[in-house]
Amino acid sequence: MKKIAVHTLGCKVNQYDTEAMLEAFERAGWEAVPFDAGEADLYLVNTCTVTGTGDQKSVRLIRHLGREYPQADIIVAGCLAQRDAARVSLPGVRLIIGTQRRSEVVALYERAKAEGVCLTAVDALKQVPFEALSVTRHEGRTRAVMKIQEGCDRWCSYCIIPSVRGPVRSMPLSAVKAEAERLGVAGYRELVLTGIHLASYGRETGESLAEAIRVAHDAPGVARVRLGSLEPLVVTDEFCAALRGMPKLCPQFHLALQAGCDSVLLRMKRRYSTAQYRAAAAALRACRPGCALTTDVLTGFPGETEEEAAQTLAFVEEIGFARIHVFPYSRRAGTLADRMDGQVPQAVKHERAAKLIALGNKLEAAYAKEMIGTVREVLFEEDGEGYTPEYVRVRADEAVAPGEIRRVLIERTEDELALGRVLHDERSE
Ligand code: SF4
Repeated sequence: MKKIAVHTLGCKVNQYDTEAMLEAFERAGWEAVPFDAGEADLYLVNTCTVTGTGDQKSVRLIRHLGREYPQADIIVAGCLAQRDAARVSLPGVRLIIGTQRRSEVVALYERAKAEGVCLTAVDALKQVPFEALSVTRHEGRTRAVMKIQEGCDRWCSYCIIPSVRGPVRSMPLSAVKAEAERLGVAGYRELVLTGIHLASYGRETGESLAEAIRVAHDAPGVARVRLGSLEPLVVTDEFCAALRGMPKLCPQFHLALQAGCDSVLLRMKRRYSTAQYRAAAAALRACRPGCALTTDVLTGFPGETEEEAAQTLAFVEEIGFARIHVFPYSRRAGTLADRMDGQVPQAVKHERAAKLIALGNKLEAAYAKEMIGTVREVLFEEDGEGYTPEYVRVRADEAVAPGEIRRVLIERTEDELALGRVLHDERSE
């Protein structure tokens, strides 16, 4: 049996796409083997280009595979392949596909192999439909990621994603329902709805994100639904009213911030102000009291002054996030921000990032601490630990089978980890 090994760089959406391609090969009779075992006939690398580091890591890995395993073939897929196929056309590469045609990956590879060529199958991304990919296996047996949206047309000034992922495409509501029901019946307790720009779900079809959440929420067997990412302008009264009627929706909302300062947000072309962000955070907290708000922040955007960086720091503290992901700004050729004056030195970006990370750690620990003395429903995973609906990690005093939801009394915390006692008076389910 031929052996395939896969590696993903970048985000959850990319992981989903990799898994879909791997499963396509397995259906065609291939055996999946660990990436580092050195025994594969075929290596698939799903690349990332969101930052310069993503590019470098992707290229380095492909070069390494070509050198170490000259007898094997390599498939390069994903965002860097979409953006710059020539750059990944390296020794050993048999097939280059971008961010479409992943459902045809096996046939394209077989064709390239039969013809003895390196095939580049990167399509232009104008007017492409939502590509339905099938994933049946998910990390662990408790949580399944569902990619229900692809592409973005926001064109934030620093971001290369719209040019590599194409326009907004959404999985039809009927397909979301069918997939959620299939996963619920297969035993997945938690569904994570995700996409490149989830807030745009349904914009081109007239269906709405609230409806998509609703059909996943109502799928038999599903105990929890979690959202990948939102943005302030999607948090309307109507959206909040819909959330109120969905108790299985996890009270953890990732509301991308990027900067807590209006002048920087304007230069980033983020389309919301700090006032709108503050209002969205308050609205989510009003409809789900105690919910965890998590976010992403960029440091060292072109022209960012000390004063602007300080405003962002203060805003992050004011909102009181439960977790933040901090990224030093990375120049991407072809974006507006790359052509802006006032590029910030690396050392300054990193220094500002360090301050935000320290604040984020403090906020995260404080959020976990607030749970002490409360009883939370914890969904346990393979490694014996589990998550509350707010996505606080919990270690319990006894082993619980993966996939079970148990009531846990939180007794103390160690940094952002909560420790607690499983209650036996009544089982949650
Ligand atoms: S919303 Fe902005 S940052 Fe997010 S993917 Fe789209 S363009 Fe990039």
